[in-house]
Amino acid sequence: MPELPEVEALATFLRERLVGRVVARVEVGALNVLKTYDPPPSALGGLLVAGVVRRGKWLDVDVDGLHLAVHLSRAGWVRWSDALPAAPLRPGGKNPVALRVRLAPEDDEDPHRPPGFDLTEAGTQKRLAVHVVRDPAQVPGIATLGPDPLDDAFDEAAFAALLAGSRQQVKGLLRDQSVLAGVGNAYSDEVLHVARLSPYAIAGRLPAPDVERLYDALRTTLLDAVAAASGKPAKELKDAKRAGLRVHGRAGLPCPVCGDTVREVSFADRSMQYCATCQTGGKVLADRRLSRLLK
Ligand SMILES: [Zn+2]
Repeated sequence: MPELPEVEALATFLRERLVGRVVARVEVGALNVLKTYDPPPSALGGLLVAGVVRRGKWLDVDVDGLHLAVHLSRAGWVRWSDALPAAPLRPGGKNPVALRVRLAPEDDEDPHRPPGFDLTEAGTQKRLAVHVVRDPAQVPGIATLGPDPLDDAFDEAAFAALLAGSRQQVKGLLRDQSVLAGVGNAYSDEVLHVARLSPYAIAGRLPAPDVERLYDALRTTLLDAVAAASGKPAKELKDAKRAGLRVHGRAGLPCPVCGDTVREVSFADRSMQYCATCQTGGKVLADRRLSRLLK
């Protein structure tokens, strides 16, 4: 799943190609991705793209004051094309293209095959979400976002205030979008490994030095990942993310810091990875799925 660094890079990638261009039309390949109906996607036709920004893990394309807000979820992605197929996208079938934004061709471009981008979704779990709204705050998932960890105003005091009094486990808090915008399952594992903290530590009970280390880990991990992703084309971002991870998705491999084997805790729909030596004083965390089986 793309998280803050990948979505930031996608926003930059799209901004460079879309701003100042006119949308010819929006074609819908999978009707279920559209979560709104007023204004319809056809309202974007003929309008100029004014900007592209990231909001948490959302992409927000500002089309002359209307907003195409996209949540890629687990298996969604952006695919750019300098020359889209001439035939319009049709709903239904096994086409992985859920939505296509076709630009109005400029003088030096093939009028039948203008540039544009596709939103694709692999797999059977369809969770890609597209909202067309007049104000991004009309999207519930955007309206309820917590502060952005890369925002200049997000200093250590602001972070400490989020943790204070929280009875959430720190792993859960970091990936809770209403607390903090943009961090998901992968980067929360990475941040906790850098901070040498157990994912099960209770956020509100962390001593001040741990809070300071966690804040620094959060900022450096995200800034490093943004720097690694920036300037990369959309199709290379997934590999770039994977290459930069220290523990997430690396169960059974050696910890790059201490050499201990990276361990895993599995849940119904996801798993997390950590290093016991670096993060839990050597204690192996209970794998709930496994312990349930053993009962
Ligand atoms: Zn380690």
